[in-house]
Order: sequence, then structure tokens, then C-alpha cells
Amino acid sequence: MPQLSDDCFAHGGGAMTIDEALALFRARVAPVAETEAVPLAEADGRVLAADIHAHTALPPFDNSAVDGYAVRHADLTPDQDSRLAVVDRLQAGDAAGTLAPGTAVRIFTGAPMPAGADTVYMQEDVEARDGIAILPPGLARGANRRPAGEEIAAGAMALPAGTRLRPQEIALAAGIGLDRLTVRRRLRVAIFSTGNELVEPGAVRGPAQVFDTNRLLLAGLLGRLGIAVSDLGILRDEPAGLAAALRAAAADHDLVLTTGGVSTGEADHVKPAVEASGRLDVWRFAIKPGRPLALGTVAGTAFCGLPGNPVAVYVTFTHIVRGLIAALGGEAWRRPRPMAARAGFNHKKRLGRTEFVRVTLADGPDGIPVATRFAIEGAAVIRSLTETDALMVLPDATERVTRGDLVGIVPIAGLA
Ligand code: AMP
Ligand code: MG
Repeated sequence: MPQLSDDCFAHGGGAMTIDEALALFRARVAPVAETEAVPLAEADGRVLAADIHAHTALPPFDNSAVDGYAVRHADLTPDQDSRLAVVDRLQAGDAAGTLAPGTAVRIFTGAPMPAGADTVYMQEDVEARDGIAILPPGLARGANRRPAGEEIAAGAMALPAGTRLRPQEIALAAGIGLDRLTVRRRLRVAIFSTGNELVEPGAVRGPAQVFDTNRLLLAGLLGRLGIAVSDLGILRDEPAGLAAALRAAAADHDLVLTTGGVSTGEADHVKPAVEASGRLDVWRFAIKPGRPLALGTVAGTAFCGLPGNPVAVYVTFTHIVRGLIAALGGEAWRRPRPMAARAGFNHKKRLGRTEFVRVTLADGPDGIPVATRFAIEGAAVIRSLTETDALMVLPDATERVTRGDLVGIVPIAGLA
């Protein structure tokens, strides 16, 4: 378990930006130290613990990129057809010999280039008759040949530490001959919801009660990051019970994540519960939906209290907690970079606050997508996440958006 210092999440007090929060996580939170070697087939989603250098070049030998005819470029006649005898045939997996000067070999994609051959004609460009290949002029030396080490030279860096492995990284590791990768151990995260009004989905609901949506939301988001999630259920708004549950969870998790009970209303009990065995700092973000977030430590384990409204949970998780998870997991992660869209609506917002407006996207006349705002705006409206395509991120300095303005959007598909 990484032991965090009590003042790990202390900060100056004023409003905080998302980028400041992410920088603070990077600077102050050390990653879990334990690593394990996993077979490639089990490495998807894991975080690489150390740089990977290629022992084998990729590709390991010069080979043909196409089906065609391999030649020595020096044998070709400039400005007119060349005629070379086809003396051999090489398929992928065949061992290559040497190409005699003045001859060609029939070659197929992936077959090794014979020594001396440096250029490959595509079969579509060649007329082959009676064992002679008729080769048109104008092909550049080296065409359609994949040189050894073109992708990665032997000894060069293939994958940096901190990479969260996707199928393409695993394919690359396989390509350089590895069968295992050393990754950080999976993070263990405990989650619970707080609120007297909450009941489990499917349970009998009292007149003033709502079904708990947040634990399933968080469990799914965490699960997609390969995290081992302990679901500790719903806790009542009652400090002694909360304090005991937090302490127990802190003992065998890397992070305790709760939702609800961190706003400044008088029914907020998370703060005293955390402070019973640690420290809590309330981070006030000028974001909508979102603020505030409670960051702290319980017996040396990271604690993060998210707001109660589901859309606020989603936004703060995907943009802020994601950075904390990256820091704990040893992952190089960057905040999602917005892409360009055009606003399909007029919107006035408060200066000095970042807003995440849920939007659907349609094709625009100039190739830039047009974003339409979801009809109901509140942070409680889960449909604003199920029926939209993206979060439009309106930065602090923006005061109004006018239909047709270029704006930044972050696709929900990239956030999970
Ligand atoms: P709170 O942050 O505790 O003041 O809660 C803000 C709003 O989010 C209230 O309307 C709560 O009922 C609602 N809420 C809090 N936690 C959950 C949850 N786990 N599932 C659904 N709604 C919640
Ligand atoms: Mg509450």
C-alpha cells in the first residue's frame, strides 16, 4: 500500500483548476511499487512498469512489402523497359539466397529480400512472359522493400514505462518477440455511497428515497481501467458509522472513493468521518457540474469524496480522479484534449468557471461537427450522458458562446 503523508493533498485554499489538481497528483502521489510479469494475453489494460527496449529489430530482416518481383535497381535501364530473367520464387517463410546480377525473383509479401536485391516491383506493374519480367522505368530504388529495423532498431525504445497497454501495444511487444511484460500491480479501490435517501436498485423505495446510481457508475468506470473494485455499499449520513467504514476500507485499498456528502450543507458528515483518522482538504473547483471535491488521507491511504449528483460524479471522475488513479497506478496519462466542433446554440456562462455541456454531434456543412446541447441541463440528469456524444468544454475565459463559434469537445466514447 503506498503510504501517503497526511498533508499530501494540502493546498493553498482558494479555487483550483483541473490542471492544477492533476499537477498536484503527479507531484505528490507515488505509484504502487509492486510489479508482476504477466503473459501478453493477460496484459490488456495493465500499466507498463519499465521501459521496453527491442532485443530484436522490427522487422527482423529486409522483406518485401508487396507481391511482385525483386530486382537490383542498378540492373534497370533508365527511361525504358527492362527485361530480366525470373530465376527464383520466394514466399513468406522461405529462406532467401543471393540475387544474381541481371536477374529477378518472383517474391511475395513478407518474404525475405535476397541479398543484393533492393527494390520490388508490384506484380500489377509487371508483364511476365516466358520466364522474363518486363519492368517499366521510373521505380525508385528501395521501393516496396521493408528494411530491417525500419519500425524499431534493435536496442531502441519500443514502449515507455507508464503506458497503459492496449491491443496495439501488446501486438508490438509480440512483434519484438516478448511473451511477458512487467506491469504494476492492479490498483485496489473501495467505493461507497453516502446518503440517507439512497436505496439499492430493486429494493423497496420509500417516498423520499432514490435508487443508488453512483456505485454502479463508478464500479464500471473503475473496472474499465482494470482496477479491483470493492463495493462497500450505501452508508448512512452518520459520522461514527462512516468513520469506521472508512478506516476499515483504508487498510487494504489504495484509494477510497465515496460519493455524496461533501457539499457544505449541514448534513455533510464525510469531513468529520475522514478527519477521525486522517486529514481532509476540500478542493473547490470552478467547474460545472462538479465542485467541490474532498481529497484526503485515511490512515495513509488516499481518500476522494465526489459530489452526489451522477453527472458531477462522471465529470469529476473522468477529468480529475482519473489523474489520481494514473498517479497511483504509475500511468502516464494526459487530460483528454478537446477536438473542434461548432456550437449549434447560444449560451451564456459565468467567467472564471469551466463548464461541461453535454452535446450531441451532427455533420456540419464545412466538415466540422455541429454540437447541440442536451435539453435538460442539471447535474442529476443521467440521460444527459446516455443520449449525447460529447462534453463541450467551455474554459474559464469564455463568457458566451454564439451559434457557429468554434468550441472544444471531448467525445464521451474516449472517456468510457
Ligand atoms: P449530496 O452531494 O450528498 O448533497 O447529494 C447531491 C444530490 O445527489 C442529491 O440529490 C442526492 O440525492 C444525489 N445523490 C447522492 N448520492 C447519490 C447516489 N449514490 N445515487 C443517486 N443520487 C445520489
Ligand atoms: Mg448526501
